[in-house]
Amino acid sequence: MVKINEDIIKAGLEVLNSHKDSKLITHLNSCVHCGLCAKTCLYYLTSNDKRFIPARKVELVSAIYRRYFTFIGKTMPGLTNARKLDDDIIAEMIDLLYGACVMCGRCVKHCSIGVDIEYVVRKGREMLAKMGYVPESLQSTVKAALETGNNMAISYEDFTDTIEWMEEELQDDCDDPDARIPLNEHGKNVLYTLNPREPKFFPLSISAMAKIFYAAKESWTLSTYMYDVTNYAYFSSHPAEAKTIAQRIYDETDKLKAKRLVLAECGHGVRANRWEAPNYIEKEFPFDVITSVEIIAEYIKEGRIKPNKEIITEKTTLHDPCNLVRNAGVIDDQRYILKNCVKDFVEMVPYGTDNFCCGGGGGQLTMSEYNDRRLSIAEIKAEQIRKTGASIVVSPCHNCIDQLSQINVTYKLNVKIKTLAEIVADTLLVENMLNNNK
Ligand code: SF4
Ligand code: SF4
Repeated sequence: MVKINEDIIKAGLEVLNSHKDSKLITHLNSCVHCGLCAKTCLYYLTSNDKRFIPARKVELVSAIYRRYFTFIGKTMPGLTNARKLDDDIIAEMIDLLYGACVMCGRCVKHCSIGVDIEYVVRKGREMLAKMGYVPESLQSTVKAALETGNNMAISYEDFTDTIEWMEEELQDDCDDPDARIPLNEHGKNVLYTLNPREPKFFPLSISAMAKIFYAAKESWTLSTYMYDVTNYAYFSSHPAEAKTIAQRIYDETDKLKAKRLVLAECGHGVRANRWEAPNYIEKEFPFDVITSVEIIAEYIKEGRIKPNKEIITEKTTLHDPCNLVRNAGVIDDQRYILKNCVKDFVEMVPYGTDNFCCGGGGGQLTMSEYNDRRLSIAEIKAEQIRKTGASIVVSPCHNCIDQLSQINVTYKLNVKIKTLAEIVADTLLVENMLNNNK
């Protein structure tokens, strides 16, 4: 770690400049130390380690603010527990703000006075990012996206080969040699995105979504130049890098003149592209931005696709991605879809906006140095799944799917992990689609 110096301190403190962010200052000064947030956080619940209490994470940033921006903190720091921005507090901030927070926002929902703890954590991460202290593991994912256009550095050739292969899968699945996965086509209704984990590890989820578009007779395209729905600079909290990534997807949708940008199954991708991107790029989208979950629900409601509920009879449960339910307000559509696609749907407890994170949020899946911690906080999710008695776990987020797959092995759950598109595609019968596509 680079030792702190005056220039680094200046860059970090700039984030706390009250003239720029009055919301932050309000939330830094509001905690009444009631302790209610402690039992909402999976890090504290699974360890009983007081360092992990959400209010303690707020206090780290708040103590620095008091030391440099309040009269009493500057003159008598000991009286207000004000702290200098030095190597010790930076090490604590890295460990707690990057390494012990999935940015799930569950604590915010339960805070007695509405302190936006997650926002303060993001701002603390932003201080670290501006000072050059993003963990190398997370930064290398951001770097791959900045340098290659996708966070897994998949080459153009590998990507187009995978799409060709998936197009053949689609043709077999739909029994139609003319079924296509369109690339770089102008003037379509939908520009669809992907989580790079799909072409890299789960290509069948691409053909699953293509099958849904085929069945709905959608006018759509993928782009070979910009398909990555993720924005890991949202997790590192580096605004300039987040802006560069957000701008690319905006530019590609604009260039292809698509009417709707449809965000693939990725919780933070939805948050970053739908809600944060207009702030990053400082303009509104002139096109519609919608999630794949919402568009699938739309197709079912409008009768454009007709899932057959008799095919999946195993008990099925749903893991809600935090960024989709708590932070993006998509709560009912995934339930509506599953109730139309499977015979036996059961909720986890708690669920929806009160759901627990799987443990893979906040960029944790990229930060291998915290792997043991990430899998130990997942004990809560494993127990939730076990209690449902379900043999299929669905989640509309590829990051969650990755973490759930690791939980499945670590906690010996013996369940099948599926994306929502895979479930829906499995329930679309060829004869129904052929009738629909006449
Ligand atoms: S956002 Fe989630 S992980 Fe972070 S402190 Fe709050 S409850 Fe804990
Ligand atoms: S619940 Fe809110 S007010 Fe209470 S300790 Fe936690 S952050 Fe502070």
